[in-house]
Amino acid sequence: MAQPEDMWQCQMTNCGCIYDPDKGDRKSKTPKGTAFQDLPEDWKCPVCGAGAKHFRPLAGPGSTSEA
Ligand SMILES: [Zn+2]
Repeated sequence: MAQPEDMWQCQMTNCGCIYDPDKGDRKSKTPKGTAFQDLPEDWKCPVCGAGAKHFRPLAGPGSTSEA
């Protein structure tokens, strides 16, 4: 199971897509077990098409829960 620190959520309004490294991303042919940090530079949110820079981890440094 991926830790919350390894799961990243899209910050675009009305999206909220979560990248789960345990599942990968079928749309971009990203295999299971690929860490968010290891995604290709041009990877985009499979739901809204936002770039990876619009994602934040669910926990840990830089996360959405951090003030
Ligand atoms: Zn998105």
